[in-house]
Amino acid sequence: MKKLEDLILTYKNFPKDGIDFKDVLEILQYPDIFKDLILKMSSNKFLKDAEAIISIDARGFIFGSAVALESSKPMVVARKPGKLPGKTLTREYDLEYGKNSLSIQINALKKFNSFVIVDDLLATGGTVNCVSRLLQDQRKEILGLITFVELKKLNGRMKLDFPVESIISI
Ligand code: AMP
Repeated sequence: MKKLEDLILTYKNFPKDGIDFKDVLEILQYPDIFKDLILKMSSNKFLKDAEAIISIDARGFIFGSAVALESSKPMVVARKPGKLPGKTLTREYDLEYGKNSLSIQINALKKFNSFVIVDDLLATGGTVNCVSRLLQDQRKEILGLITFVELKKLNGRMKLDFPVESIISI
């Protein structure tokens, strides 16, 4: 029987030299272990108090929608720009190399006041910080981040002013 930790595979120098890429999608081939993970991610106090989940393009959607189903919470999405129809809010942020942006639909945000962010992996924290700034600019409350994996050496949680719950910290 495989353990959760065994299912986080490391690919050296992907997608660029010097990056140890953690492949978190192997778990999808082990539905019983995936289910355990989703139960753990969903049994969180700050999730209970949130009106909605927001998940982040693209692997965050896989974990976010499973947590949304398990916890019976509505979910909205933060997507790469140009993907969402209607009026959106967009913010740019720095990656290790270059820049990226994320957009959220204004009409989706309007319905909820408090959010928990769900993503696959916390690295430098730039991506989650971008989402939290988009929400905070609209006076939305962020109760926490729930992530499958946290790369603790990169100290991403230091960028965030809300609690972080990671299931695996490596
Ligand atoms: P960051 O903004 O640095 O916290 O990185 C955020 C996103 O980039 C994560 O949600 C991952 O999807 C991806 N990412 C960053 N670093 C890695 C890594 N070493 N392995 C796998 N995915 C990563």
